[in-house]
Amino acid sequence: MEKGITRRDILKLSGMTLGGMAIGVATGTAVTASASDCTQQSLDPMTNNDYIERLPTYCPGTETLADNEIRISFLGTSFLPRLAQECNSVFIEVGGGKNGEALDQFIFDCGSGVVAKYNAMGIPMRKMDKIFLTHLHGDHMSDLTHIYLFGPAQDRKTPLYVWGQSPSYLTDPTDTSYTYDNDGVKVFCQKFRDMLRWHTESFSFLPTSYKNWTPPTQTDWGLPAPPMPIVPTIGPPDPTNTDGYGVGGYSLVPIELDWTKKGDQTDDNVAYNNPTTGVKITHFPMIHARKGSIGYKLEWKGMSVIFTGDTRPSYELIKQASGVTVLIHEMVVPPEVWAAKNMGYRTPAEAYADSGFQQALTVAKAVQTSSHTPQGALGYMLSQIQPAPRLAVATHFQATDDTIKSAFKSIRNHYPQGDVVIAGDLMVLNVTPTSITKRKAVVNNYAWYPVAELSSALAAPKYQDGQGNMAPTAQIDTTDVIPSGADTYDDSGY
Ligand SMILES: [Zn+2]
Ligand SMILES: [Zn+2]
Repeated sequence: MEKGITRRDILKLSGMTLGGMAIGVATGTAVTASASDCTQQSLDPMTNNDYIERLPTYCPGTETLADNEIRISFLGTSFLPRLAQECNSVFIEVGGGKNGEALDQFIFDCGSGVVAKYNAMGIPMRKMDKIFLTHLHGDHMSDLTHIYLFGPAQDRKTPLYVWGQSPSYLTDPTDTSYTYDNDGVKVFCQKFRDMLRWHTESFSFLPTSYKNWTPPTQTDWGLPAPPMPIVPTIGPPDPTNTDGYGVGGYSLVPIELDWTKKGDQTDDNVAYNNPTTGVKITHFPMIHARKGSIGYKLEWKGMSVIFTGDTRPSYELIKQASGVTVLIHEMVVPPEVWAAKNMGYRTPAEAYADSGFQQALTVAKAVQTSSHTPQGALGYMLSQIQPAPRLAVATHFQATDDTIKSAFKSIRNHYPQGDVVIAGDLMVLNVTPTSITKRKAVVNNYAWYPVAELSSALAAPKYQDGQGNMAPTAQIDTTDVIPSGADTYDDSGY
């Protein structure tokens, strides 16, 4: 393959690199080089993912789910946001609902950019109400903001349930009040709610709740603790509530899980256990950057799916993954590749000549030492899991032809056989007791929100006219508003 002109080369050509090093290329070729870089992208192993592109097509919204079928959709598969791979999110549905729809569904992590992918897949907000966070890094929870804030304007008129870690309770010697240790999902949700007050109030001229709706109880969902308190609430008027409103779309319900639990002493690591749908979700500790990260295992009808979030290679994972159907595990490129890519080089060989490379490499190694699973380590763990997973999926990985090739080399050194794939956005797996199919969704890049479906009568909005109707101007000053009409503007543009 002909070597392409890199971003680094272009920087050099534009005189932006350090030291004004001689590059032996006339300045006048910069524009040509840039154009050439663009035109060869589809052939470039560093800007292409042939595996994902060649998967059979999945057409969202055209299929029913069998009552023994799990569908796993990858909406984000990278730690850094990029157009082909947003940050992390996996959507899992189990079959058996009415009209071939899912009976129950769950989001695992929701990093930045993933809502666009959910929209493209036609997944409505009402199905995005149960969110399991592995940890509170931005690449795993940034889009919680959009899901929370815009859900009630669509068809989630019920609370957003957020599972996540209990506080780390690490001792910070400089923090005598332990403020920085009370960092679990409950405090996170409380602060999150307060931070977003302007948005939630401003949207509350729209109906954001149902007239009659009964929240699931601890027993309904087999929750580890009663799902209270509901962090603040906007719904039908309820004078007994401190917010003055009852349960609705802007209710946020954190379900804090003791991150130390493994379920190996007593069955105390259950996050969700729904007797109606039969879905059970347990959690176990992962090793990542700071105490508190957890992984999840979903079990249903004899099948199981593990989602690790981020972790260093872990003996606990090997135990938890015994006989798992689908193991979704993170993986990182070697630190040399990480450092070279961060510096704009195509390969470590090119980067070694740069005086800054050793420093970049030191940083990359430190990140990996604190947090992640090298390619070879994933292969080693797979070789140790007995019985082996029916399918292993590596994710959180910048998946292009060059990195995939290198990863498989490392994985296969330890795990020569066994089904392994590297995830890309919009990859969809259909799992039954006897088969696993792998496809890629073909979607509309310009999709709107999916069509809203309401399950009951709406309650009056918070900002209303006294008769229960929306009062859209209740929070603005209309004095300076230009009115429509014969003297001003005609808006009939369709
Ligand atoms: Zn991450
Ligand atoms: Zn992380």
